Amino acid sequence: MTLRVGGLTPLSTTDWPGMLAAVVFCQGCPWRCGYCHNPGLIPPRGEREVPWPDVMAFLRRRQGLLDGVVFSGGEPTLQAGLADAMRDVRDLGFKIGLHTGGMVADNLAAVLPLVDWVGLDVKAPFADYPRITGAAGSGERAYAGLQQVLASGIAHEIRTTVHPALLNDADLIGMARDLAARGVKHYVIQAFRSQGCKDESLCRNTTRARALQDVGVELAGLCEELTVRA
Ligand code: SF4
Repeated sequence: MTLRVGGLTPLSTTDWPGMLAAVVFCQGCPWRCGYCHNPGLIPPRGEREVPWPDVMAFLRRRQGLLDGVVFSGGEPTLQAGLADAMRDVRDLGFKIGLHTGGMVADNLAAVLPLVDWVGLDVKAPFADYPRITGAAGSGERAYAGLQQVLASGIAHEIRTTVHPALLNDADLIGMARDLAARGVKHYVIQAFRSQGCKDESLCRNTTRARALQDVGVELAGLCEELTVRA
């Protein structure tokens, strides 16, 4: 089954920290986060899809120039063709990164052995997930995804996007403590960015009472690595 790709970034230094990577944006996502910065990738079919053979032709031209390829979204694990696509890319000699919300357990389990690094979103306290995603049962799915990633031992970054209207500091601090206790080694707190977001109210109201960096200082030492992207 061919992977549906909604877009391709030829070179990124930020989507997989420390690596020069191309980013393959997988089409489709069942969740509806208000702060989504790539809403064009949510529908199952995109307006500017890139055929998989074109992605492979591009990557062949980048062999030896890039360290890896990140499969992002949308939600990559939604697509049954993800594992085959990752095998194709591995066969070209690239390392594989994955951005995921951890929402499709079977497919996540199938691809984790092919992956060198995972960036997993944890959006809110798990019981509170539907308030962010609009999807019943999303917290249980994300929790299962977190457990899978941690059990795999694969290098990871667990990250939370913080919008002051959606996640207060007390919940964020509680989440960080909970994640550290579960064995998260690298936790990233990243400030909401309005670029690409279609929710005007969220884009307008971004004032914080307390700087995110200060919250990070309070959490210092909880995990092996804690990063604040303010
Ligand atoms: S899970 Fe990610 S891609 Fe899907 S709606 Fe939320 S932010 Fe957008």
